[in-house]
Amino acid sequence: MIPDKKKVMLVFSIILIAGFLLTNLMGYYTSRTSLRVEIRQNELPLTSDTIYSEIQRDLLLPIFITSLMANDTFLRDWVLHDEKDTDAITRYLKEIQKKYGTVTSFFVSDKTKTYYHSTGILRTINAHEAQDLWYFRLKNLGADTKYEINIDIDRAHNNAMTIFINHKMFDYQGKYIGATGVGIQANTVQKLIETYKQRYNRTIYFTDRQGAVTLDSSDLPGPRDSIFSMPGIQPFASQILTSPETSLTYTRGNETIHLNTRFIPEIKRYLFVEQSENAAIQEIHRALAINLLACAFITLVVLMLIYIVLTTYQKKIEKLAVTDSLTGACNRTLFKSIFAETVKDWKRKGGPVFSVIFLDLDHFKEINDTYGHSAGDEVLKALVQTIRQTLRQSDVIFRWGGEEFVLLLKKCPPAQASVTAEMIREKIKLTPFRFEDRTITVTISLGVAGYRDMETKESLIVRADKAMYRAKQQGRDRTEMAVEE
Ligand code: GH3
Ligand code: MG
Ligand code: MG
Repeated sequence: MIPDKKKVMLVFSIILIAGFLLTNLMGYYTSRTSLRVEIRQNELPLTSDTIYSEIQRDLLLPIFITSLMANDTFLRDWVLHDEKDTDAITRYLKEIQKKYGTVTSFFVSDKTKTYYHSTGILRTINAHEAQDLWYFRLKNLGADTKYEINIDIDRAHNNAMTIFINHKMFDYQGKYIGATGVGIQANTVQKLIETYKQRYNRTIYFTDRQGAVTLDSSDLPGPRDSIFSMPGIQPFASQILTSPETSLTYTRGNETIHLNTRFIPEIKRYLFVEQSENAAIQEIHRALAINLLACAFITLVVLMLIYIVLTTYQKKIEKLAVTDSLTGACNRTLFKSIFAETVKDWKRKGGPVFSVIFLDLDHFKEINDTYGHSAGDEVLKALVQTIRQTLRQSDVIFRWGGEEFVLLLKKCPPAQASVTAEMIREKIKLTPFRFEDRTITVTISLGVAGYRDMETKESLIVRADKAMYRAKQQGRDRTEMAVEE
C-alpha cells in the first residue's frame, strides 16, 4: 500500500520540529541556568572579594598615617604645652598633607575643643552640631578601639570616594588628649568600581547598617536613599541587613537582577554588587534564534527531500501498477480508464472515431517449444517495440493476455486502422528476431474493430477478437475487419 504522502509529511514535520524544538529549548534552559549560576556563585562574589581587598588595601595607608600622627612626640608635646604656636601645628598638618597626598589632615584638642586644620582655619567644636558629632562618638568608644573609619563620597568632585580616619590621641600617661586624622581618596577602589560598571555592567554601592545608601559611584535608578524604598530589593532589605553575606535574585521592571551583598566591618558598610542578566541573556536569545532558524532551514530541506523521494517512488509504483513488466505495454486494468477517456474525448470534440486492433502471435507455443521460453519473452519485447515504432504517440498498446495485445488508435476509423494493422503485420513478418545467433521469424493475426456510438468496451473488444479469430481460421498472418452486426 502506498502511504498517504500528506500523512507521511505531517509525521516527519512533527518529529523534526518537535525534536529540534526540544533540543534547542533544552540547550537554551541549560545555558540560562549555567549563566545564572556563573553570575551568582562566581562573578558577583569574586567582584565583591576583590573590592573588599582593595578597600582593605586603600585603608592601610591612612591608618598608618593617623597612627603615626597620634604617636608623634611633637604633636603630643605641643598639646601638652598648651597649644601655643598655632602656626607650628598648621605647618605640621600641612606637611602631613603634602607628604602623603591626603585630602585633609586635622587635630582636635580635647582640652580647648579647637579644631586645627591644615589650611590654618580654626574652629571650636560643639557637641550640639551634627558635623562635630563624630568627635564625641570617637571619644566615647571603648578603650579597645583606637580609631574610627568613615567613608564618604564627594558628589561635587566627580563622586570621589574619600576615606577618613579619626584616631584617638593620648598623652604619655595614656590620658585622652584629643583626636587626629586624615582623609584620603580611595582611588583604587574607585577605579575598580568604575571598571566593573563599564566593562561588566555591574552596579556597586554601599549602605550603612540601617540600609541607607551612603556611597554609590553608580547611577542607581529610582529612589536611592534607602534599600527599604528601592524597588525590587525592598522585600529583601531586612534579610540583607541581618546577614553578613547574601546572594539573591530580584526583578526590577523587566530586568532580572542578581545581587551579592556582604558586610565590611572595617567601614561598617554593606557592599552591594549587582548585575542585570538581560545583556548576557540576549546573547543566549540570539544563539537560540540562530539555532532555530538553522533548524527550520534543515527541516524545510529534509521535508523537501522526503517530498521529492515520495513523489518519485509514488510515480514509479503507480506506473508499475499499470504497466506490464516484461514488455512495458499498458496492462489490461488501464484499458478501462483510457477507453472511457477516449470515448469522452471523441464525444466532446467529434471528428474521426477510434478503433482497436486485437493482435495475437501465430503459433507462439511452437516458438517457445523450439527456442525456449526466454526466446519467447524476447520476441514479445521486440514485438512491442516494433509496434510502437509504427504507431503514433497518442496510440496505446495493452498486453491483453500471454501473447495477445490490444492496440487503441485514437482518431482512426476502422478502414485506416486496418491499414496500420497491415503495416504492423508486414513489418513483423519482415523483421526476423535475433536470439542467440538464431533467427526467429514470427507472424501475427489481427482483427480490427471501429468504435460504434454507445458501445461498451467489452462489445468492442469481442468484435475485434472475433475478427482476429477469423484471421486465424483463414490461415493466420492476416488482418480481418469486424463484421457489422
Ligand atoms: P495460435 O496461432 O493459435 O495463437 O497458436 P499459439 O501457440 O500462439 O496459441 P496458444 O494459445 O495455444 O499458445 C499461447 C502460448 O503463449 C502458450 C504460452 O506458453 C505462451 N505464452 C503466454 N505468455 C507467455 C510469456 O509471457 N512468455 C512466453 N515465452 N510465452 C508465453
Ligand atoms: Mg492466444
Ligand atoms: Mg497465438
